[in-house]
Amino acid sequence: MHDDRTLVESRLKRVLEERILPAVYPESVPLEVGIWTAPGEPVPVAEGLAAPRTPIAVGDAWGAPWGTSWLTVSGTVPQAWAGRTVEALIDLGFDANMPGFQCEGLVYRPDGSPVKGLNPRNQWVRIAAPAAGGEQVLLHVEAAANPVILDYHPFLPTELGDKETSGDRPQYKLARMDLAVFDDTVWQLSLDLEVLGELMAELPVDGARRWEVLRAVERALDAIDLQDVNGTAAAARSELTAVLAAPAVPSAHRISAIGHAHIDSAWLWPLRETVRKVARTTANMTALLEDEPEFRYTMSQAQQYAWIKEHRPEVYARVRKAVAEGRFVPAGGMWVESDTNMPSSEAMARQFVHGKRFFLEEFGVENHEAWLPDTFGFTGGLPQIIRNAGSKWLLTQKISWSQVNRFPHHTFLWEGIDGTRIFTHFPPVDTYNCSMKGSEIAHAARNFKDKGVARHSIAPTGWGDGGGGTTREMVGKAARMRDLEGSATVRWENPAEFFAKAEAEYPDPPVWVGELYLELHRATLTSQAKTKQGNRRSENLLREAELWCSTAALRTGAEQPYAYPYEQLDRIWKTVLLHQFHDILPGSSIAWVHREAEATYAALARELAELIDAAQQALAGSAGGGRELVFNSAPHARSAVPAGGAAVAATDAPAATVTPLDGGGFTLRNGLLEVVVDADGLIGSAVELATGRETVAPGSRANLLQLHPDFPNMWDAWDVDQFYRNTVTDLTGVDSLTATAADGRAEVRIARSFGSSTVVQTLTLRPGEQRLDIDTEVDWHETEKFLKAAFPLDVHTERYAAETQFGHLYRPTHTNTSWDAAKFEACNHRFVHLDEPGWGVALVTASTYGHDVTRSVRADDGGTTTTVRFSLLRAPRFPDPKTDQGLHRFRHALVPGAAIGDAVREGYRIGLPERRVTGTAERVAPLVEVDHDALVVSAVKLADDRSGDLVVRVYEAGGGRARGRLSTSFPLAGAVPCDLLERPWDGTRGEVTVEDGAVHLALRPFELVTLRLSPAR
Ligand SMILES: [Zn+2]
Repeated sequence: MHDDRTLVESRLKRVLEERILPAVYPESVPLEVGIWTAPGEPVPVAEGLAAPRTPIAVGDAWGAPWGTSWLTVSGTVPQAWAGRTVEALIDLGFDANMPGFQCEGLVYRPDGSPVKGLNPRNQWVRIAAPAAGGEQVLLHVEAAANPVILDYHPFLPTELGDKETSGDRPQYKLARMDLAVFDDTVWQLSLDLEVLGELMAELPVDGARRWEVLRAVERALDAIDLQDVNGTAAAARSELTAVLAAPAVPSAHRISAIGHAHIDSAWLWPLRETVRKVARTTANMTALLEDEPEFRYTMSQAQQYAWIKEHRPEVYARVRKAVAEGRFVPAGGMWVESDTNMPSSEAMARQFVHGKRFFLEEFGVENHEAWLPDTFGFTGGLPQIIRNAGSKWLLTQKISWSQVNRFPHHTFLWEGIDGTRIFTHFPPVDTYNCSMKGSEIAHAARNFKDKGVARHSIAPTGWGDGGGGTTREMVGKAARMRDLEGSATVRWENPAEFFAKAEAEYPDPPVWVGELYLELHRATLTSQAKTKQGNRRSENLLREAELWCSTAALRTGAEQPYAYPYEQLDRIWKTVLLHQFHDILPGSSIAWVHREAEATYAALARELAELIDAAQQALAGSAGGGRELVFNSAPHARSAVPAGGAAVAATDAPAATVTPLDGGGFTLRNGLLEVVVDADGLIGSAVELATGRETVAPGSRANLLQLHPDFPNMWDAWDVDQFYRNTVTDLTGVDSLTATAADGRAEVRIARSFGSSTVVQTLTLRPGEQRLDIDTEVDWHETEKFLKAAFPLDVHTERYAAETQFGHLYRPTHTNTSWDAAKFEACNHRFVHLDEPGWGVALVTASTYGHDVTRSVRADDGGTTTTVRFSLLRAPRFPDPKTDQGLHRFRHALVPGAAIGDAVREGYRIGLPERRVTGTAERVAPLVEVDHDALVVSAVKLADDRSGDLVVRVYEAGGGRARGRLSTSFPLAGAVPCDLLERPWDGTRGEVTVEDGAVHLALRPFELVTLRLSPAR
């Protein structure tokens, strides 16, 4: 037989697009439309409904960027349409390719109740089925003129990302505002043909199935009278019945589809718009659940539920009902889908605490999966946190975005730094926006790496990012692929149903140890420095606030009771958690989001400082008592002040000195370190005096600022591409170099200018501290540049440690394999540490997350130089054209002679400054004390159930085993190991015993224990 395959395929494409799809709505009449544009930010629904309208017609422009217009559409269903299905078609000026990235609307009835959302893939509103004829139609649309930021020419700088710069040019033209007859048979035919056409394209050309489908499609096309598609659609469908009924082969891949809209809590839109995005999508999804009995929908991010509850209670009532039916499924159990690289140990824990608790309290649902389809890499600390939150599974597809290496599994056990293993699934469909295209389903089946031992995968299905969710077309296509020869099978299933099946069929999956590093978006560790600092500052202040507020609550007497600020802390935590969303903390949002984040963090800082101050005043006694107490909120004692307590500080260490050098430069000494700052203001030498060991590699100088061009091929705020290193400028020019010694400190101040920017650095040695503090102030006005601070160290090592949640992980200093080489920019929390046996050095940081570590071998002495570089600033122009412009302050420190325990201690110290309060008390005893340095207290707080119990979180921070005693300064009635939600938990594997009124702990490397301590009352 002659091969006419491409001819039939082309015929299908044209007939479907030009004749069948237009025939879904064979008749229409125009609606009357009126408009009112709100003068500024969105208004309450009642105000939008009541505002006067002026007429507007199809073709007219509307919608200044970020504006909101209220449209009223009205009309009458023609009598002739009696008995037929009638829908309103509302096209606000949509581009079908941009659901969620464009204008959107929410339709209301005249009484203000929401009907459904409008987006480019969802323009219809069902009016009647069947119509009686003569119905009056009156609907209102809250239309949001969200501008397109990510265009067909992506990543071009745009001023549209902030309403302060976006101008007032209308963005859209009304395209279609009609009442129309909906022909269900033609619509069903279009889905039959789409599914078969897309299946056919994936089938082997030498297989019989492809040709059977092709001939059936051809017969269907022959059966259509192109001048009467509506009259002949049924006949065409009957030609397809047999090929659609042929069942899948027994070995077919099995896809658990779950309706989804991965809505970014902020990204190319501000937080306030996400509140409305979630309402629109959720209104559509609850409606679709009512129309489609098989359909299931899942939504993560407790914050988004809280938004609907507060702002659109009618939609929330529909959500509650569908959740109770088990068809609208809360997923993930986190407050938001956060970044996981940068949140602190405690913040990462609280993401789960607040997320899971919300679902438990609102719906009585406990999630067991972590749901992070789009997060930019996953730390080695995360498995233990997931397990301690009472969860056991993880889903993400993001690692499929890696530039270089293909991950070897789709279903596997992921082992974290402490040995906790989490059953993990990467959907092989490689997207969280599956739209039930045949190519996606076939890709999932082909791509699945665990064939032969496992058969199930999951497919999150629906328009995400900017929202939209699942469409009725996706549901219709899924139904056709339920059991279809040549295709994977598709069933709507809840995430928990999928995970249970996947676990059962694959009892011994392969294991991946360590972080899940995303080989992309590495610059998200640096972009928008102020957002990152706001996060870190808030995390530190929350630690302090909880510690001192608990101490005050347990300490102050009945005559002066101190009330623990439960509600305030809860609200502040949720705000901090929201801003850890995976496009806010990573710095990949529009300017508006980061401008607001900076203001929000500043307000939180003021509020937390007041809380801390009030608690410390309560503890210190009435002010003016004349004794200055130093409060130490770090987990290690310092200046004779106990960890978590307050005392009069005492040090007898000699003052640091500074001496000028011949030829320029200075030497700083404090009896522990001798640091030489040369005439260029660079650190030529840093010697630990006890050992005589030099820190800086011979022939190199440390604290060298280096400037690289930084223009990635895509995703400007997200990516730094490896070629950035090919070009570098060392910033060695000095404007001024001065030194001072005062209050026991010795300081050198270096001022430089480069490009359009200036930098001032202060290097400080303090008495009794084996640490050189480096304060950097940059007035940054560069474009598409990357600023690094380099520390070439005389250390020979194949690996280095970087702090992560509840411990640290090791990464190679070499590039042996493509996996090693791809990690050319990585994340640390508060320290990077490297050592040779017996001697090491730490670099600690108050707020810098990105770094790189490289090695070279010196020609003259054969020694190894290991260079650590902190990533200070970038200047991408998309999506925020002015990213990071302006004044920045950073604090780092170099700690020669540091063991890993010193790195941990200095890491805490740098973010937790001493606070001095004058009062009558002689000292404030810590609530809890631990007698082992590696057993680190990461949180002290009152129990969220307001029982008055104290919750203390302790982890082993050294990577070894630690046995120690946790004593309390209050009479202890009992101590119970808990999960992160403060529920008694027998999952703790370390030893926890209570003896002689103290808790005895024996923990594994990096093991985390949450203790609920009940004071004797
Ligand atoms: Zn996302």
